[in-house]
Amino acid sequence: MSFLNIDSAKERTFDAIVVGSGISGGWAAKELTGKGLRTLVLERGRDVKHVTDYPTTMMQPWEFQHGGQLTKEYRDANPIASRCYANREDANHFFVKDAEHPYVQEKPFDWIRGYQVGGKSLMWARGTQRWSQYDFEGPARDGFAVEWPIGYADIAPWYSYVEKFAGISGNKDGLPQLPDGEFLPPHEQSCVEKHFTEQMAKHYNGTRPIIIGRCAHLTKPQPIHLQQGRGQCQNRSLCQRGCPYGGYFSSNSSTLPWAAKTGKLTLRPDSVVHSIIFDEKKNKATGVRVIDAHTKEMTEYYAKIIFVNAACLNTNLVLLNSKSNRFPNGLGNDNGLLGKYVAFHNFRTGISAEHDGFQDTTTEGIRPNSSYIPRFRNVFKQETTGPGSRFLRGYAAGFGSSRATDVDTSGMGEDLKNSLMQPKYGNWRVSSHMMGETIPKESNFVALDSSLTDAWGIPQLKISVAYDDNDEKMIRDFHEQMSEMLTVSGFKNIQTHDNPNKAPGLDIHEMGGVRMGKDPKTSLLNKWNQFHTCKNVFVTDGACMTSTSTQNPSLTFMAITARAANHAVEELRKGNL
Ligand SMILES: Cc1cc2nc3c(=O)[nH]c(=O)nc-3n(C[C@H](O)[C@H](O)[C@H](O)COP(=O)(O)OP(=O)(O)OC[C@H]3O[C@@H](n4cnc5c(N)ncnc54)[C@H](O)[C@@H]3O)c2cc1C
Ligand code: SF4
Repeated sequence: MSFLNIDSAKERTFDAIVVGSGISGGWAAKELTGKGLRTLVLERGRDVKHVTDYPTTMMQPWEFQHGGQLTKEYRDANPIASRCYANREDANHFFVKDAEHPYVQEKPFDWIRGYQVGGKSLMWARGTQRWSQYDFEGPARDGFAVEWPIGYADIAPWYSYVEKFAGISGNKDGLPQLPDGEFLPPHEQSCVEKHFTEQMAKHYNGTRPIIIGRCAHLTKPQPIHLQQGRGQCQNRSLCQRGCPYGGYFSSNSSTLPWAAKTGKLTLRPDSVVHSIIFDEKKNKATGVRVIDAHTKEMTEYYAKIIFVNAACLNTNLVLLNSKSNRFPNGLGNDNGLLGKYVAFHNFRTGISAEHDGFQDTTTEGIRPNSSYIPRFRNVFKQETTGPGSRFLRGYAAGFGSSRATDVDTSGMGEDLKNSLMQPKYGNWRVSSHMMGETIPKESNFVALDSSLTDAWGIPQLKISVAYDDNDEKMIRDFHEQMSEMLTVSGFKNIQTHDNPNKAPGLDIHEMGGVRMGKDPKTSLLNKWNQFHTCKNVFVTDGACMTSTSTQNPSLTFMAITARAANHAVEELRKGNL
């Protein structure tokens, strides 16, 4: 990997430029360099080297100055970042600070970001479920969004391709709504989760399966993972710190070092991409403008193809800021839809319960994963009768369990030690959080603020995204259905948790704004993620998504990116770009 000493335009010219080094940018870098393209990856944040830049990864609980918690001072200064469940003392250095990267909340929106080499691939929870054909069909079938230009058959081989390389654990469940993948051995469900699974099969005639989540952990590394220098997951469940074993997939442990090995990668951290340069005579993009994060100096870099992978909302920002005579309202924005139809996952609510059985069992060790309830509402068609007919689409849910322990920490010395060594066990507790599909709407949009700029002189992003009535109905259905499902399975003390004031954003699954589609009048990108009107610019992160379905989205971003990158190289070789 080389860092640049830039003086001439020639030295600033590459075959390909990738904006952003997170989950999708890492994949673009791997594929493009793997096909022989000299590729520049521009990353606005600092460099984070695998292992050596994970400062807390081996720390013991007592070594944290604040017992692992965020301080009041930090919370007061960073109310948005503090709301993310994963932002604790051990992972805090990976989260963007509110004041350093302001944005305008036309409606409340908690925008959680990780600006560093690796992006949010260091911070994510690693849930990786495929989409099915029903997810791609849904928007056109049910008439709530434009038709996807691709279907499951287009992407299935690319799911397999990225799964084998990233390493995805899971069970072959044989579910049409959640296709199986190329799985490493699955984690095991707890006895209480197995009980729930069995009860669901009994009471709902196989229509509400509960499975162990598919997740990006090396439960049994294969030769391809060992070649990446990654080893077996040790089930420490401290992944948010960065994993010294490379036990989970991140750009830092996997795709970026793989790309670097080709000798074709130039990674440039601290490089804030300002905009894309469009050349009217050539009728294509020729490069990008970049501001040095520290000196604030602007430099241009050039390439034949550009992949924009700055994560959904930042990709929208870069493209809206890419103004030219040809595209005065942002790159490719002839139809005025750039920044519109932003969607996300309805993550507002959850439920918890207890079971007073299984008293002779407890959990042993830690599992960096949970069970998963695939969507059962409006999957194969829009229901026309019954509760599912009250709203469009549906929800999936995570489902976890643990045996509650009651440790008396009031004593001192030997009393305290004995109490810690012999915790009193309470009932098993379970909890579930909803991941609902939201409907892409023109009224959910992002735009450039007309007056406010950031520290680099770039317009601030204005976010105007909110829940709607469909989301409220879905929340009510989740409460009703999950309460019923837990009740028939013998759970007690069932409590729903919902805060109507909780803003969207904490799902961290933003999608849309630069959606794919068949018709240039109603979409920005074609089936290969190229702008309809600027074919050498590709958008393959969440911004390209036409709809959101309910699955954790990053696996789909990876597969879409690998597919588009391979197409880009083919087109380049044919002289079409
Ligand atoms: C706590 C947490 C849990 C999550 N759990 C899951 C999960 O279980 N499953 C799942 O599928 N997803 C999960 N996600 C979401 C997942 O992390 C994202 O979907 C994924 O990282 C998106 O990949 P990306 O490449 O689009 O963006 P990122 O990984 O965020 O990478 C984008 C990169 O672009 C850089 N960048 C931004 N703007 C610019 C610019 N102007 N110039 C240069 N560089 C720029 C950023 O600094 C960043 O490094 C989770 C996220 C978090 C934070
Ligand atoms: S649980 Fe696995 S992936 Fe997570 S930190 Fe531990 S070894 Fe790494």
